[in-house]
Amino acid sequence: MGKRDYYEILDVSKSASKEDIKKAYRKQALKYHPDKNPGDKNAEEKFKEAAEAYEVLSDDDKRARYDRFGHAGLGAAADGGFGGGGMTIEDIFSSFGDIFGDAFGGFGGFGGSRRTSRTVRKGSNLRVKVKLNLQEIATGAEKKIKVNKYVSCSSCGGTGAEGGSSYSTCSTCNGNGQVTRVSNTFLGQMQTVTTCPTCGGEGKNITNKCTKCYGEGIVKEEEIIPISIPAGVAEGMQMTVAGKGNAARRGGVNGDLLVMIQEEPHPQLIRDGNDLLYNLHISIPQASLGSAVEIPTVESKVKIKIEPGTQPGKILRLRNKGLPDVNGYKRGDLLVSINVWIPKNLTREEQKLIEKFGDSPNFIPHPDKSEMNFFERMRGYFK
Ligand SMILES: [Zn+2]
Ligand SMILES: [Zn+2]
Repeated sequence: MGKRDYYEILDVSKSASKEDIKKAYRKQALKYHPDKNPGDKNAEEKFKEAAEAYEVLSDDDKRARYDRFGHAGLGAAADGGFGGGGMTIEDIFSSFGDIFGDAFGGFGGFGGSRRTSRTVRKGSNLRVKVKLNLQEIATGAEKKIKVNKYVSCSSCGGTGAEGGSSYSTCSTCNGNGQVTRVSNTFLGQMQTVTTCPTCGGEGKNITNKCTKCYGEGIVKEEEIIPISIPAGVAEGMQMTVAGKGNAARRGGVNGDLLVMIQEEPHPQLIRDGNDLLYNLHISIPQASLGSAVEIPTVESKVKIKIEPGTQPGKILRLRNKGLPDVNGYKRGDLLVSINVWIPKNLTREEQKLIEKFGDSPNFIPHPDKSEMNFFERMRGYFK
């Protein structure tokens, strides 16, 4: 299923400000609001689509990733983000309800039948860091992460009420979960419907609190969460594993687990985007006579051929020996920069040999055109 462009969904330009995006989302959300379009599946999809677009474009970090990598930049985790199931209407109300809450509560128009879903709580997000070495980045990695987090209380089923059923109807709101206030404004009399402050919108109060969670409905527990990290990730990238964060108090939806990638430096290879750089030192005889030299790659080692008469500064490009792109399109290269080792301490005998070479016309520098053009060549390699 092809996804529509988020800017297009909200009908804003790429350079739209946060305020513009919020306004544009509000407009879409009001247009396709489920209360306004009861039973209209198409409107519901549009409502969800707008929320998804807003969720990304209102978050600086997500927006930057979306601008750079498109939808692929957000769905790094197989089960993360919006890649899979998407947002439910409940998620949308719990996350962005405040944006259109007053429009629907305030003028009474759609407020009457408003479900309690608007008050669904969302647990907080959990943040963890995961350190990966280059090998793991090259292949992708399965990691098991131990977190100490809030989970639903098993003793009361997350309700916070002893036995899961010791409730009484809230007397403040008569079980509606909402209270209506009438106030006079310059526009005339206005009705404001707000969440009941006594029961927090649940319409009922706990008579006997659960003794295990003290009525909170959640307890702290250690959990091992398996996560699947795609190949090609880089330092600072963030993955979202939806629903693996903290459980919400007394029911509601779980927060997300946010996984921040950290990269362990490789002892020999330097990363440059998807390319890898390696500094190779060869001896004067190897450079003069040619040789086969073993160099490290991220997976193992490869042998490369040094042609006779190889000059220091030459760069060999080993195609597709770099890292895979996180979007899976291509693979980087391994660039080998050749250095020739000039000995620093010579025996008397070695000195004599070198002196002899110095007399030979072949040892007097006479670079050809390609070797003269060193800076041009460097530019070519790093383009
Ligand atoms: Zn409990
Ligand atoms: Zn109440």
